[in-house]
Amino acid sequence: MQPIRTFNVSPSLPQRLEPLRQLAYNLHWDWNAESKDLFNRLDPELWESSRHNPVLMLGTISQKRLMEVVEDDGFLAQMDRAAQQLADYLKEHTWYQKQRSDKPKECYAYFSAEFGLTDCLPIYSGGLGVLAGDHLKSASDLGLPLVGVGLLYQQGYFAQYLNADGWQQERYPINDFYNMPLHLERNADGSELRIAVNYPGREVYARVWRVQVGKVPLYMLDTNIEPNKTYDHDITDQLYGGDIDMRIHQEIMLGIGGVQMLKALGYDVTAYHMNEGHAAFSALERIRILIQEQGLNYAQAKQVVAASNIFTTHTPVPAGIDLFPPDKVLYYLGYYGDIFGLSKDQFLALGRENTGDLSSPFSMAVLALKMAVFSNGVAQLHGKVSRQMFKGLWRNLPVNEVPIAAITNGVHARSCVAKSTQELYDRYLGPNWSSTPADRPMWGKMEVIPDEELWRNHERCRLDMTLYVRQRLVKHLRDRGASPREIAQAQEVLDPKVLTIGFARRFATYKRATLWMRDLERIKKILLGDKNRKLQFVIAGKAHPKDIPGKELIRDINRFIREQGLEKQVVFVPNYDIHIARLMVSGCDVWLNTPRRPREASGTSGMKAAMNGLPNLSVLDGWWDEANYVLTGWAIGHGETYEDPNYQDEIEANALYDIIEKEVMPLFYNRDGDGLPRGWIAKMKDAIRLNCPFFNTARMLAEYAQRGYFPASDRYYSLSSNNYTPAKEVAAWEENLKENWYNIKIKDIDVSSSPDIQVNQTVAVKAKIDLTSLTNNDVRVELYQGAINADGDIVNGVPVVMDYQGEDPSNLSIYTADITYKTSGLQGLSLRVLPKHKHLSNPYEPRLIVWAE
Ligand SMILES: *Cc1c(COP(=O)(O)O)cnc(C)c1O
Repeated sequence: MQPIRTFNVSPSLPQRLEPLRQLAYNLHWDWNAESKDLFNRLDPELWESSRHNPVLMLGTISQKRLMEVVEDDGFLAQMDRAAQQLADYLKEHTWYQKQRSDKPKECYAYFSAEFGLTDCLPIYSGGLGVLAGDHLKSASDLGLPLVGVGLLYQQGYFAQYLNADGWQQERYPINDFYNMPLHLERNADGSELRIAVNYPGREVYARVWRVQVGKVPLYMLDTNIEPNKTYDHDITDQLYGGDIDMRIHQEIMLGIGGVQMLKALGYDVTAYHMNEGHAAFSALERIRILIQEQGLNYAQAKQVVAASNIFTTHTPVPAGIDLFPPDKVLYYLGYYGDIFGLSKDQFLALGRENTGDLSSPFSMAVLALKMAVFSNGVAQLHGKVSRQMFKGLWRNLPVNEVPIAAITNGVHARSCVAKSTQELYDRYLGPNWSSTPADRPMWGKMEVIPDEELWRNHERCRLDMTLYVRQRLVKHLRDRGASPREIAQAQEVLDPKVLTIGFARRFATYKRATLWMRDLERIKKILLGDKNRKLQFVIAGKAHPKDIPGKELIRDINRFIREQGLEKQVVFVPNYDIHIARLMVSGCDVWLNTPRRPREASGTSGMKAAMNGLPNLSVLDGWWDEANYVLTGWAIGHGETYEDPNYQDEIEANALYDIIEKEVMPLFYNRDGDGLPRGWIAKMKDAIRLNCPFFNTARMLAEYAQRGYFPASDRYYSLSSNNYTPAKEVAAWEENLKENWYNIKIKDIDVSSSPDIQVNQTVAVKAKIDLTSLTNNDVRVELYQGAINADGDIVNGVPVVMDYQGEDPSNLSIYTADITYKTSGLQGLSLRVLPKHKHLSNPYEPRLIVWAE
């Protein structure tokens, strides 16, 4: 039955409780202990059953309970405190204001297909989403003028449950937006704000929901409205759901719809950040707007767009990248090519590494890389892997110079550290520990925390996790109609005194969730060997619904548990989500990660664990490769990569068992007279002191701001000033450069000394270059020096800029430089010419380079 009218009914609160409404609608409560506690205090059961959703809670709580708390002075005092903390937070003087007070108004738009912010907004699938959520939270903490852009999924990501055989089943709960901490954006006249996005043969409408994340708004598009066709309702139905056509529909909505939405909301965006390639179509829409509304041509518009774009890649494997068939790209987006004045092949070339290969698919990552002058990977190792993976886009450039930077991921400390642990840090380190950089003396105070207090607190966290895991298991088994015996068993799983290894993440096969059970006899011996030194595992994670091998891993673990009768000691917790993640990263003792290097771009759950004082036990991949893995945990292997995956599993599983037996268990169970594992506690303190300040989104956001957002905004303002005069200038310059570039000839290189020289001897080099119609103002000439490898190539060469000395009588440009070799051995020297222009953000941007032959 369709309604003839709809009403949006909001909770009715006594006047004195109005602050609850403000608190509920700002996700600040997610990382503010006082407010979170307040909602729990209001009605613990409802808080739990609403999945920690204060809006739903206020809408369903009994009037009787509200009347009780109105009379409860303790409650009211806490509410007022929480409200005051939110008000203070919203108006505090921020890091950003200190950095950019002299700048014109800026706005950074952060596009992501998923956001993992809090439990009751299930619109994320895993690490990428949680990272995006933490990005917004830290942007808010630092006061960055950032807005998030995403899609609001009607069904979100699936809830996981297991059948009796341990096979993953999926359920898609419907999100009820009106009972979530969401605001519907409206026009001045009260009507819904809507945008209309072009799709073949029709327009698709979307309305806009906002979730307030501290100071930062996140706007999300929703197409589940009339008069859209049924198919179009589903564009924002499921995260990563549907086939390739649906995927293109979604990415058009995110990228193109996102740009239109920001415009409709009145934002003048100065920097755009594409978190992963899903939003890369945004660049096409931005170029279109500049052409059609500002009268620029394609080359000029692309200058402006690329200069103000930032792209973050998250996958170290080509298979992880969105690829679309060329005919589909033309079908859905070909009209952009017409507007840009590009042929079909030129348009498709925007998404191709090898522009001459007319059959190759259209890559969203390649589009994003070509449309952004600043790109980065998410850990140092991942930066290196990305430069290797995409080096074909910068032909003839040495791989170490490929302009893909690395900004190592972090996590939002106040969101992932257990409440009691935060209070402990607040007490001993002061209230700013969550964003204090590593080099500050504050971190020295770690030593002051009494061992006993840290340990007792940790044991409490382990107990909290144990109780929660039991509760969730019991509920899951009841829902499945399991036998009373199974349910009774679930009430007793885990021992809150026993050394606990945690493993929780997406069940993608490369993460090797079953590596620890590769040698059944050996792991059973460890698990059952010594009554006084026991070990237990807590495991959680979802496999993508279409990932059968991933689901097999989940089944294998559950079979192993059942067949070996290890129900008490090895627990698979169903339906991994942010809430369980937080309990596990604080309540386990060791955090395990066993990816196949280098496939884990970063990994962030281990960072969360470290902040809670857990040592990590991991393969040297992602973030762990750059952490202090000696002091703050243990490394499996030494960063090797293997040809034979079976052999690799064999070696690494054995290394894992050895470390558990010889290092982890002895350190954990070695107690002193007070019953404290002093050595273990020292490692915990190191884990916190060394990892918390760095693998932290406070550090990460400052880095994105300083390396990405600030320069991108500056470039945006400078290129668009005077009605885009500088953009026009640099586009014309680049066109001229491209026409003449291949005429450049390096005529003559004169080296002052013989091939045999000594360390520290200076060599003078003089080169004559025919720049034809280009001039010294257009180019930068560099010597390139470095050691020679076995193939006869210079590796990791160092460029030295040569000085221009004018022209010789035959109009050749003369360049000179002195170099000094600091190390002995076979050293090579070469010379190269690169473009130069004051509005170019880096010399590699035009993708032109000439080397001496
Ligand atoms: C942190 C987190 C992740 C990411 O964990 P990885 O270690 O990067 O695999 C995934 N899901 C949830 C719910 C998380 O909280």
